[in-house]
Amino acid sequence: MEYLPINIDLKNKKCLVFGGGPVAYRKIQMLLKAGAQVFCVAQRINESIKNLDGNITTIHKEIFYYLQYSNLSSFRLIISATDNDKLSHHIYKVAQLNNILINTVDNKQLCTYISPAIVNRDPIIVSISSSGSAPVLARKIREKIEKAIPHNIGILAKFASGLRDSVKHILPTLLQRKKFWEQLFNSSISSRIMDTGLQPNSHELINKLLPESNNEGEVFLVGAGPGDPELLTIKALRVMQEADVVFHDRLISSEILELVRRDAELINVGKSMGHHSVEQKDTNQLLIDHAQQGKRVCRLKGGDPFVFGRGGEEIQALKKARVKYQIVPGITAAIGCTSYAGIPLTHRDFAQSTVFVTAHCKDSIDTLDWSSLAKEKQTLVVYMGLMKSQYLSKNLISNGLSKITPVAIIENGTCHNQRVISGNLNELSDLIDQNKIKSPALIVIGEVAKLANELAWFNPENENVFQDQILELA
Ligand code: SAH
Repeated sequence: MEYLPINIDLKNKKCLVFGGGPVAYRKIQMLLKAGAQVFCVAQRINESIKNLDGNITTIHKEIFYYLQYSNLSSFRLIISATDNDKLSHHIYKVAQLNNILINTVDNKQLCTYISPAIVNRDPIIVSISSSGSAPVLARKIREKIEKAIPHNIGILAKFASGLRDSVKHILPTLLQRKKFWEQLFNSSISSRIMDTGLQPNSHELINKLLPESNNEGEVFLVGAGPGDPELLTIKALRVMQEADVVFHDRLISSEILELVRRDAELINVGKSMGHHSVEQKDTNQLLIDHAQQGKRVCRLKGGDPFVFGRGGEEIQALKKARVKYQIVPGITAAIGCTSYAGIPLTHRDFAQSTVFVTAHCKDSIDTLDWSSLAKEKQTLVVYMGLMKSQYLSKNLISNGLSKITPVAIIENGTCHNQRVISGNLNELSDLIDQNKIKSPALIVIGEVAKLANELAWFNPENENVFQDQILELA
C-alpha cells in the first residue's frame, strides 16, 4: 500500500493555498467545507475566490516574497496550485523544512499527501484513491459509488450518532452493541429514517431491537468458489462483510480474504496434504466456542462446502452443540475450473453424465467402484488426484476405459495463474510430472476433455493486458 488513507480534522486550522486561479478556487472550497481557516496567497486572485463565504483571507503578494518574510510554523497544511514549476519546487522545499503537509496539484513528486476522490454524504465520507496512478479511474469508481449510496444516508448516520450514548448505556458489551447496530441498519426502520427524517424515540427503538441483539451467535458455512473472487455469491460476500470472525482454509486466495470485513478476526485452519494444521475436531470446537460467545462466525471454504469439504461433519458438530447455522453454497472446483478451461461437463455428443470423485489417499481410492467409473460417455472429475494419478489411470484402463481417452489437468483453475494441460489417459502421471503440476489441480477424464483446446477462452495473460489498457484509457 503506497499511502495510508486517514481523515484529518481541519476545523479552525490554518491552511495555506498558493495560487489564485480556478484550481485554487476548487481546493479552497473543499477546505472551507471542512471548516478550515484558509489563507490564499497569490499576486492575482480571482474574484470567485474573493467572493467565497467562510473563513478566508486573501493575501495579494508575490509568493517568493511571501515565503521569504513569513513564519509558516502555525500552518497545518499547504496546497500549491501555481503553474510555475520553479515556484512549486520552492514551496515544496519550504513546506518540508517546516514539517507541513503539502499537496502540489498534479505533481505527485511534490506531495507529502494526496487527495482522494470523495463521495460526500456528510457525515459519511467515502474516499477513493488510485495512489496517484490513475485519478480519472478513481473518479469513474466514484461515479459508481455515488449511485450505490443513498443520497440521504447522512441523515441516518446523524441519527445513529445521537443514539450512541443511550445504546452504550443500555447495552454494556461491544458485541451486543455491534449486533444492535447491524439490526438497525438492516431493518426497514433505517429506510424510514432516511426517507422521512423521522426520529424514533431512542428507548423505544432499543427495546424493539433488543430481543434480537441477544447473545446468540451463529455459524455461516460459506463456499468461496474456486479462486476468482468474482465467482463469490452476493450472499457469501455479505456474510464475509458482517462476520466477527472468519475461519478459512489454506486454499482461499488473498484476493478473497481482502474482501472480509477489516476488523474481523481471520483464523487459518487450513489443511495441506497430510498436514492438518488444525485437527478437524478442533476446528469444529473452535466454531462452537466462538458462536457460543455470541459471535457471527464465517467458516469460509474453497469451492462448495458440501463437496469434499467436510462441511457435513462441521454442521453435524454444530447441530449437536445446538449452535445456529446457515449454509451458503459456492461454485465447486469441478464446475468453476472446467468452465474456465472451456470443458463442458456434459455434451450431447460426448457425455451424458458426470461423476465427481476424490482420489486423495489409498483409503478413498480403494473404495471407488472402478467398473462404474470406467464407463464411456461419462465425464470423470477427480479432486485431489495428483498423488494417485498413476493408480487412477491404471485402474480405469484395466476396467475397460480406452488408453487414449482424453484427459485435462487444470491447475489453479479460474485464477490468474491457471494452467490447462491436455493429453491421453495412459500418459496422465507423466503429464503431471513433466509439467510440474502442483496442488490445487483437478483432473478431468472423458471425451469432453479434448474440447479444452477448441473452446478455451480464459487467458490470464490477456486479462492483465486488458487491465493495463483500461488504466491507459483512464
Ligand atoms: N470444497 C472444494 C473442494 C475441496 S478439496 C470444492 O468444492 O471445490 C480440494 C481440491 O479441490 C484440490 O485438491 C483440487 O483437486 C480441487 N480444487 C479446488 N480449487 C481448485 C482450483 N482453483 N483449481 C484446481 N483444482 C481445485
